Amino acid sequence: MQQERLQKYARLIVKCGLNVQKGQEVLVRCGLDQPEFVAMCVEECYKLGAERVKVEWSYMPVTKLHYDHRTLESLSEVTEVEKAEWQRKVDKLTCTLWLDSDDPDGLNGTDSEKIANANMARFPIIKPYREALENKYQWCIAAVPGREWAQKIFPDLPCDKAIERLWEAILTASRVDDDPIAAWEKHNAELARHCKLLNGYNFTCLEYKSANGTDFKVGLNPRGRFAGGGETTLGTKIYFNPNIPSEEVFTSPLSGSAEGKVVATKPLSYQGKLIENFWIRFENGKVAEVHAEKNQDVLEKMVAMDEGASRLGEVALIAYNSPINNLGILFYNTLFDENASCHLALGRGFNECLCGFENMTVEECKAAGVNDSMIHVDFMIGSADMSIVGVTEDGKRIKVFEKGNWAI
Ligand code: ZN
Repeated sequence: MQQERLQKYARLIVKCGLNVQKGQEVLVRCGLDQPEFVAMCVEECYKLGAERVKVEWSYMPVTKLHYDHRTLESLSEVTEVEKAEWQRKVDKLTCTLWLDSDDPDGLNGTDSEKIANANMARFPIIKPYREALENKYQWCIAAVPGREWAQKIFPDLPCDKAIERLWEAILTASRVDDDPIAAWEKHNAELARHCKLLNGYNFTCLEYKSANGTDFKVGLNPRGRFAGGGETTLGTKIYFNPNIPSEEVFTSPLSGSAEGKVVATKPLSYQGKLIENFWIRFENGKVAEVHAEKNQDVLEKMVAMDEGASRLGEVALIAYNSPINNLGILFYNTLFDENASCHLALGRGFNECLCGFENMTVEECKAAGVNDSMIHVDFMIGSADMSIVGVTEDGKRIKVFEKGNWAI
C-alpha cells in the first residue's frame, strides 16, 4: 500500500473527519492492527495544533478474556478512574477518533447475556456524561484492516493479500483519490441537496415495499428533518464528518410509529456475533416479533435491552447504486454495510434531527418523539427492487425511491 495514499487518508480523517482545532485534545481508540497508520493520524493531529493526543489500544482476544473471566459485578463497575476520564472529556470536549479493525466474530462464544447485563448496569452512570457531550464535541469513526476481519471478507486469499484488498476497499469507499478533501466537499454538498428536497416535502410517513417480503410503514416526526454528511458542533460551531465513509441521508422517525414487516438484506454483526437471515415485525411502533436463522437469541436479547430498544431511532436512505454497494463486498461491519444500503436502527434516536433541538433539553426531545435507549443498532433493508413512497400532510404520495434508487 503506497505511503502517499495512506497519508492522504490519515489527513482526511483528522482534517475533514475530526477537524481538529489548535489547542484541542484528541483521543484515538484503536486495535493493534495498523500501528503505523495510527502514528500517521497522531502526527496529523499535532500538525493541526492538537495540544495532546492519547491513544487507547485494545486487542479483541484480551477483551474476550475479560468478558469470560470477570464476574458480572466486576464488569458492571464504573471505576473512579473511568469517571474522571469521562469528566475530562466533558470539560475538554475531547475529539474522539475510533479506528475500527475488529474481528466480526471476535466475541463468539462469550456470554452475551452477561455482557448485556453489565452494559445495562453501567449505562445510568455513564449517561449524564454522554448527554453533556452530545452534539458538543467532534468525533469520527473510520476503519483500518485487521487480520481476522480481512480474512473473514476474503477467505480464499492469503492473509497479506486479504489485508491489501481490504485497504483498497476502505480507501475506495472513503473517496481517497487525488484530492480526498475536495471530493468530500463535493459529496457533502450532494448529500445536503437530497436533505433539502426531502425536508421540503415534510412527509408524515414513508412506506417501504420489496419482493423479499418487506411491507412496512414508519411515521416521521412533524418537527423532524433529514440530515447527512457533515455536522456542526453546538457552541463551538466546528464542522466535522462523524463517519468516513458516509453515504446516508437520515432522520429520527416518530418514536412508537411503525407498522409491518422488514426483512434484513445483510447479516448484522452485534457484539461480536453475526445475526443472519432475519426479519422484524412492528406493531404500534414496537417490535412484535423477530426471526433469525442464526443467533436469534442475540437479536431477542438486543430488542429487550430496555424500553426504547424495541422502537426505531433512525431511518436512513442510501441509493442501491452507491460506491460501497458497487464494490460488491459484504464487510461484516456496520460503518460500511450501513452505507451500502437503506437501513433502520433500533434504539436511540438523534436529537439533532429535530428542528430547534438547540434550545431543547434531552427530556424535551424525548417528549417530542425522539426515541431513547442505551442501544443504537443499524440493520440493512435496502434491495435492488425497493420502492419507498413518502406521504405528505395533505395525502399526496411522492415516489422517493424506485428500483432501489433515488426517484426525487
Ligand atoms: Zn445510519
